Amino acid sequence: MFSRLFKTCDDVGHLGLKKWIALKAANELYKERIANHPLWCLIWECTLRCNLHCRHCGSDCRAQCVHPDMPAEDFFRVLDSISPHIDKDNFAVALAGGEVLLRQDLHEIGVEIQKRGYPWTFVTNGLLVTDEKLAELCEIGLSAVALSLDGPEEIHNDIRQNPRAFECAVNALHSLVNCKQLKDFDVITCVTPALLPKLPEFRDFLIANGLTKWRLCTISPMGRAVNQPDLLLNGRHTRQLLDFIVQTRKEGKIHAEFNCDGFTGKYEGEVRDYFYQCEAGITTASILIDGSISACNSMRYNHTQGNIYKDDFMDVWNNRFVKYRDRSWTKKGKCADCEMYSFCLGNGMHLYDDDDNLLRCDYYDMKYDK
Ligand code: SF4
Ligand code: SF4
Repeated sequence: MFSRLFKTCDDVGHLGLKKWIALKAANELYKERIANHPLWCLIWECTLRCNLHCRHCGSDCRAQCVHPDMPAEDFFRVLDSISPHIDKDNFAVALAGGEVLLRQDLHEIGVEIQKRGYPWTFVTNGLLVTDEKLAELCEIGLSAVALSLDGPEEIHNDIRQNPRAFECAVNALHSLVNCKQLKDFDVITCVTPALLPKLPEFRDFLIANGLTKWRLCTISPMGRAVNQPDLLLNGRHTRQLLDFIVQTRKEGKIHAEFNCDGFTGKYEGEVRDYFYQCEAGITTASILIDGSISACNSMRYNHTQGNIYKDDFMDVWNNRFVKYRDRSWTKKGKCADCEMYSFCLGNGMHLYDDDDNLLRCDYYDMKYDK
């Protein structure tokens, strides 16, 4: 095993002793979290409506049954039922879509979350963001916003399939930069092969426009992206992206971070502020548009554990979620003999399809140059 860990300098599986020890320590903490599964983040998929039709949208696998928005009172009934069981100082509500700003009752929703003492956040494509809207939402407890911006104008507009998407997103970025009440915001960029050579230029553009925090992610083969291989990175691309993030972090002009997209081998500890661990079903739960109780809104296949319209949320959280907390079932296929399994545990739950098959592994693709 040790010979594999310390093989060659350039090997993506080369961790080095220090990193190996740090990953082991992180694993021990993860085991504790699994045992206690403290609920720190509740994601509410409050709408599937959207004002864009992005090429990489993960929601498309459920688009054939477009569902009306969940009434806010149904969500608050659940929130009230879990309130006695959570640590209020370590808990936030994340609103997810669709485009959250399309909810006409967003102000009332924010007021109700604030009344219960929780910070709340959302992700937006920026089309409906204005200075006034942000100021209004900050007044009622909005604590963080993530803005999607997928590259320079031609790339972003192509992915978003809208000629004004980039202009609107950049205007939204300016509103976020200028909003003094907002505690935190970042830009999320889905990196495609077309963007890779332009990343340095795009990073400099973001810095020049006042951005200080930048999350970069890859697109998984699900939803609309399944039939669009030109959006997906191969192993060589992923190495290029991770090398870019390492370099950008060293330069220190912007806080760049790889999203929790998966285990990255030798890049662990260098592309994020934390080691990769999947928090789905461990500290993160979600309530989907139809009331399904799930774990993370990046998951687009059906790993739901119950439904708020027939189950008690806390009962489901405490007594189900077994497949999330005992990941031994993932030790098959590529993972069966993988030397990283004890750190990776078969990767993020969002990478598994309905039949519990792994759709993609960045580490494997980098290692075998897939
Ligand atoms: S092959 Fe499996 S265990 Fe190995 S890094 Fe990939 S997902 Fe993780
Ligand atoms: S399912 Fe994926 S995106 Fe969600 S917490 Fe796990 S690794 Fe992160």
